[in-house]
Amino acid sequence: MLQEQEARAAEMERTFIAIKPDGVQRGLIAEIISRFERKGFKLVAIKIVVPSKGFAQKHYYDLKERPFFNGLCNFLSSGPAVAMVWEGEGVIKYGRKLIGATDPQKSEPGTIRGDLAVVVGRNIIHGSDGPETAKDEINLWLKPEELTSYSNNAEKWIYGVN
Ligand code: UDP
Ligand code: MG
Repeated sequence: MLQEQEARAAEMERTFIAIKPDGVQRGLIAEIISRFERKGFKLVAIKIVVPSKGFAQKHYYDLKERPFFNGLCNFLSSGPAVAMVWEGEGVIKYGRKLIGATDPQKSEPGTIRGDLAVVVGRNIIHGSDGPETAKDEINLWLKPEELTSYSNNAEKWIYGVN
């Protein structure tokens, strides 16, 4: 039904996900994309960029007082990162579940960091932690024209509305 589809589309959240330079260098781009894709989330923007140090400082602004801030920003700007926007019901919160805890030593097996990373300073992936950060990070990393909006034939099978 059109109305149901429209109502569902209005509920769809978007989150910002980045594969950090360690994930790119370790050849984990496809593996990480695949986990979000197989879950049923929809990729609506993607690009590969080398963030400048200033850009990394903006991205991690909230952590500027932390002792690891400088090293973290040097690291994020050390090579290409993959910037993505994923869309789906509950994608902000569930995206964080797919990613796992910040410290890979504490991430459950089955999560991206649990399965693929070992230390907190090289935890391969970033994901927005709430609706406000998601909006801010999407705006920081992507221009409006880099975002797409499309319907996908699998959606009726993922969401169960025909
Ligand atoms: N980080 C670090 N040392 C710490 C805590 C965090 O190097 O003790 C890094 C780590 O790469 C983490 C990033 O800082 O992903 C951002 O920290 P945050 O607490 O926002 O974790 P996240 O949201 O990425 O799970
Ligand atoms: Mg965070």
